[in-house]
Amino acid sequence: KIRTRIAPSPTGFLHLGTARTALYSWAYARHYGGEFVLRIEDTDVARSTQDSVDQILQSMHWLGLAYDEGPIYQMQRLERYQAVIDQMLAAGTAYRCYCTPEDLEAMKAAQEARGEKRLYDRTWRPAPGKVLPPVPAGVKPVIRFANPIDGVVSWDDLVKGPISISNTEIDDLIIQRAPEEGAPEGAPGVPTYNFAVVVDDWDMAISHVFRGDEHINNTPWQINMYRALGAALPQFGHLPVILGDDGQKLSKRRGAVAVSNYDEAGYLPEAMNNYLARLGWSHGDDELFSLDQMVQWFDGTHLSKSPAQWDAAKLAWVNAQHLKAMDDAVLATRVQPFLVKLGVTADERLSAICGLFKDRCDTLVVLAKWISAFYTEVVPNAEEKAQHVTESVKPALALLADKLAVCAWDKAAIAAAIKEVLTATGLKMPQLAMPVRVLVMGTAQTPSLDAVLALSQREKILLSLQNA
Ligand code: GLU
Repeated sequence: KIRTRIAPSPTGFLHLGTARTALYSWAYARHYGGEFVLRIEDTDVARSTQDSVDQILQSMHWLGLAYDEGPIYQMQRLERYQAVIDQMLAAGTAYRCYCTPEDLEAMKAAQEARGEKRLYDRTWRPAPGKVLPPVPAGVKPVIRFANPIDGVVSWDDLVKGPISISNTEIDDLIIQRAPEEGAPEGAPGVPTYNFAVVVDDWDMAISHVFRGDEHINNTPWQINMYRALGAALPQFGHLPVILGDDGQKLSKRRGAVAVSNYDEAGYLPEAMNNYLARLGWSHGDDELFSLDQMVQWFDGTHLSKSPAQWDAAKLAWVNAQHLKAMDDAVLATRVQPFLVKLGVTADERLSAICGLFKDRCDTLVVLAKWISAFYTEVVPNAEEKAQHVTESVKPALALLADKLAVCAWDKAAIAAAIKEVLTATGLKMPQLAMPVRVLVMGTAQTPSLDAVLALSQREKILLSLQNA
């Protein structure tokens, strides 16, 4: 059975890179009728917060990536980790190491002096005939994994292809930290990421592990641990890094990297998923698609090996396309929170207004601003007002106000009233339409005037024209 997972560490918001990994893992499971698990990797106790967990869950919900199991918290599984550690200690695939930080410093200095790579020298690793040093008083041991001394670890990465690394390159990883100072007698230490992730992916029967390629160096240890535990290996797929437009890894210092930033900025989750999907995967030339289509297409092939480039303008374009394609009534519900922020209470006209403006907005924030012109007092752009609302056009505005005061309030009747004013004054359409748009919408760049007026309230329009 295909089972995938996303395993964020709750030390901050849901990062775009993690969101992409979540999307791929989710889509892969859905494509093959499998299951998707959410696990919270909270063993970095000092940096993990409930607030971060809440933000991550909220962003997953916003993206619409539903999980079949979870959230599972690693800190609630300490007993299980301890049982596996005990089992490994008994089997000799793990051992206690009593090196103090000072010992490790000295080891490192000596290795550097000899020009060697920094590796733990296996002082405490038992071996036939080897006499271990006397256990120092007062030192609480860490547990290390007895990594194979030689041989090669290889796997066929779903993204990067075949990868091999010699065991001589890697040392005996710490899999359990020493218990905290002052922890109750016998309380277990907290396991490290590389160990907990193996036990979890094994226990949770994860078949495919997608994650960022910053974890590629961890995978050989993990594979060795699976083997030591007699566990079946999952398949690994390491997704390339996402770069900002400066060619550096996308990071907080370089702009918005939290999924929630885009929610707040008026992006649609549909567009976000679409854009993230294309950031490292392709389906022919398809640029715009729905989550359902992605699920249909996402079979684990066509994943890109090279770094992806974040392109804010492209994302805005994708968002604009999804906005344009969205059903008016659905769009009306999506824009609602942004109207609340502007203090706008909309009415039954909202869907139609969305329909009229959706093809000129790249975010919900922009759409909400347009909508607010129908519900609040409009302050015309001063420059455009000076340009279009001239003395010579004012008599025509007065005449239009007279006609609009009595005509039926629909698009056809309004169009007829505008025509009559043009005939009576000899003005061309733009000469009349531009100033009216500036007065009623604040700017001259609007959809056709009759459509805008038909969705406006007659009293509000008359007032704007009369004030001018
Ligand atoms: N907690 C790890 C991270 O946030 C998960 C890595 C993995 O998927 O194995 O990067």
